Amino acid sequence: MKILANDGISASGKQKLEAAGFEVVTETVDQDDLENIINEENYSALLVRSATKVRQPLIDACPNLKLIGRGGVGMDNIDVAYARSIGREVINTPAASSQSVAELVMAHLFSISRSVYDSNRNMPANGATEFKTLKKKYAKGVELRGKTIGIIGFGRIGQSTATYALGCGMKVVAYDPFLDQATLTLDVAGQQINTTVETTTLDDLLNQSDYISMHVPMPEDGRALLGADEFNKMKDGIRIVNAARGGVIDEDALLDACRSGKVAACALDVFVGEPSPREDVLTVSNMALTPHIGAATVEAQDRIGIELADKIIAYFGNQS
Ligand code: NAD
Repeated sequence: MKILANDGISASGKQKLEAAGFEVVTETVDQDDLENIINEENYSALLVRSATKVRQPLIDACPNLKLIGRGGVGMDNIDVAYARSIGREVINTPAASSQSVAELVMAHLFSISRSVYDSNRNMPANGATEFKTLKKKYAKGVELRGKTIGIIGFGRIGQSTATYALGCGMKVVAYDPFLDQATLTLDVAGQQINTTVETTTLDDLLNQSDYISMHVPMPEDGRALLGADEFNKMKDGIRIVNAARGGVIDEDALLDACRSGKVAACALDVFVGEPSPREDVLTVSNMALTPHIGAATVEAQDRIGIELADKIIAYFGNQS
């Protein structure tokens, strides 16, 4: 049985599948050639990350494609409901990357608190001649300990981020209309500490927070959760991280708030219009930027590969 891992799969996941008798091909086939190659090579499963699109016409054109697997969480690149409605198996790996995204959020929180991202831009060009000027420019850093972080969307990644933030001595408030509270377990030096976070209203979170981190799926109506009205309710000098989806914050409102100083600094891992984000979003001086790498750690890719392999073996059975 043949599997096409069109956006790649970890070596550990590939080995597990091969040990169970599957043939795994990791070459990337162009989107336009997928239909022909899947049929010619008689692939039974197609594994993707976010790059390859699996839309209804492709699903219809490949009747022998029994399983579609997404390495990661968001399945907006797959017509999931349609595929399932005609009996195709669709799987993903929702939990495998939560910790990696949470750690990237922490990296950004530290970075935007001390202007590390901007210092890294300016030191190579001007550090040798304008050291004292730059030292003064970055002298007004702030600490995380004692500050309040508002987490919008308190699912897997939101809760994982909360454990790191609590570990740094931050106060956590959360907004999630589908959840009243969550009990988090912090593992500190071998001791497990349980703490319960009760969710609050969005307005209360916007009022209280020194930092906000976004961890919601893109709303189905396509409307941003944070727009001009919400920015007006935030503290002056708020710091924001978005590692969820580009559209969950209105980028025009965010740009205005960054330029006016309402937002002291913002970090974006996700953008509207990926892979071609707006240039004006990329060139605001108080914006820290990463190119959608939240889940891109060696450990997460390993967990994703293994979880995909386990689910594929469970579905098709061992082939060896
Ligand atoms: P999850 O489903 O575990 O959690 C999402 C939470 O958001 C749920 O608890 C849900 O109740 C809540 N929610 C839904 N609508 C809401 C709303 N309007 N307001 C507030 N809360 C709302 O998902 P997750 O695994 O934690 O993923 C969260 C986000 O992170 C998703 O957008 C996902 O696509 C994104 N993500 C990004 C990366 C990256 O590389 N940056 C990687 C993985 C996931």
